[in-house]
Amino acid sequence: MKTSILKKIILFVAVCYIPLQSMAWGTLGHRICGQVADSYLTPKARKAIEAILGNESIAITSNWADFIKSDPAYNYLYNWHFIDLDKAYTYPELQAYLKADTATDAYTKLNFLIANLKNPATTKANKLLYLRMLIHIVEDVHQPLHTGHTADKGGNDVKVQWFGKDSNLHSVWDSQLIDNQQLSYTEYTTWINHTTLAQRIALQKDPISQWLFESNQLAEKLYADVKPDDKLGYKYNFKYIGILNQQMVKAGVRLAGVLNQLFG
Ligand SMILES: [Zn+2]
Repeated sequence: MKTSILKKIILFVAVCYIPLQSMAWGTLGHRICGQVADSYLTPKARKAIEAILGNESIAITSNWADFIKSDPAYNYLYNWHFIDLDKAYTYPELQAYLKADTATDAYTKLNFLIANLKNPATTKANKLLYLRMLIHIVEDVHQPLHTGHTADKGGNDVKVQWFGKDSNLHSVWDSQLIDNQQLSYTEYTTWINHTTLAQRIALQKDPISQWLFESNQLAEKLYADVKPDDKLGYKYNFKYIGILNQQMVKAGVRLAGVLNQLFG
């Protein structure tokens, strides 16, 4: 009797846990982006950020917005993590779409967060909330499937196998490709974080619309490259790990650019 209740509890917890796992860069992915950003902060920005986050590093703070999904008080932040782009946009089309965008999504909320962090009237408590959200969402929109289609929930309903286990396209890009490298977030960052000053200057000039355009293009390519129930593994890893790593480096460099602008 006791075992059966225990089994039910385990099943219930597992069912609750699965959707949370497939909604954003996984724990490692966010920390890697955060660690990359940390390496490019100006001393002035670092000091100002420390005054808000205290002893929490940018890498660790990066996961906060996912962890709080377990508290219904934060349900209103759910739609901030992504933007649904339902087709392959040209850049001018996407710019027009974003200009008219009034939905609660990653684009409108990134603009909201930057504006409010700039505003000296923002309270200390809100500064902490907004900084944590800003860090997380800059990272999220570089996961291409955070700009995926509404109908399949950004690839969550595109069912595939990952090394013989049931998975989905979103989850493969959130965490499974990254976990497959078997590195800690600091080891991973040491592996991939190599940029020149010229590259950083160019990346930090790109507007948010450019970040979203790149993710949209990549997401469309990823959708076209899988069929339902495809068996993904070594070959998929070989094909895409370089592109995924580049997305995380871009996220970190651009995040540092935004933070240096706000606090530097
Ligand atoms: Zn997220």
